[in-house]
Amino acid sequence: MSLITITEVRKSFGQNEVLKGINLDVAPGEVIAIIGKSGSGKSTLLRCINGLETINDGSITVAGAQLLPDEVHLRALRLKVGMIFQGFNLFPHLTAGRNVMLSPMVVKKVKEKEAEAEARARLEQVGLAHKFDAYPDQLSGGQQQRVAIARALAMKPLALLCDEITSALDPELVNEVLAVVKSLAEEGMTLLMVTHEMRFAREVCDRVVFMHQGRVHEIGPPEEVFAHPQTTELKQFLGTA
Ligand code: ADP
Ligand code: MG
Repeated sequence: MSLITITEVRKSFGQNEVLKGINLDVAPGEVIAIIGKSGSGKSTLLRCINGLETINDGSITVAGAQLLPDEVHLRALRLKVGMIFQGFNLFPHLTAGRNVMLSPMVVKKVKEKEAEAEARARLEQVGLAHKFDAYPDQLSGGQQQRVAIARALAMKPLALLCDEITSALDPELVNEVLAVVKSLAEEGMTLLMVTHEMRFAREVCDRVVFMHQGRVHEIGPPEEVFAHPQTTELKQFLGTA
């Protein structure tokens, strides 16, 4: 049984159709890298899966429940699927710990004590147990992104969607974030990540999706997609044409 089922999904912005019939099944525990040129629809696809964009046609099912664009369903969906962005989007006036505690307390009505214990555990998971009381501006970009990951994990999602989460980081900070993602993958988290880190995709992902002009142009295990690209477009993208 797949955890996320995407069937013939279409999405347009005005006249511009940016997703042209996407099909993708994601198994529980699967780690998928989404690669492709800027503008190919990668972010839009993730945003549709998280209900941040409404689709024009097709269907998306998460853990057996079809995604419908009404508030009740969207709220339920966002409890199941976490999303992390390029910018860390932490609240600057809250400590790392409070940032992680906020959603469970506000959205899930978790009691403060319980939320704090959960936040400490999640910060420990990303290697930042000692930064519970630090404010975002006292943390490096890599640390802030790890807090953002801890914050997503505190909601106990079934899957995490990551959209270029290392793209805004200085090169020396990329690896500490990727190491956290790798450990999540090893612990069995279902991950869909848009990434430019090809070496990481090759090492950690079960499958690679190459998007081109709003379509899944090639898909397969990394050893196939990277070593034996089938289409001119993927060869060009990988620089092997
Ligand atoms: P990628 O993440 O692969 O770079 P995007 O999904 O961000 O691609 O964008 C795909 C296309 O959709 C682009 O042509 C972009 O300009 C367009 N697009 C994305 N978001 C919007 C929006 N909110 N309104 C209008 N056009 C959008
Ligand atoms: Mg994008």
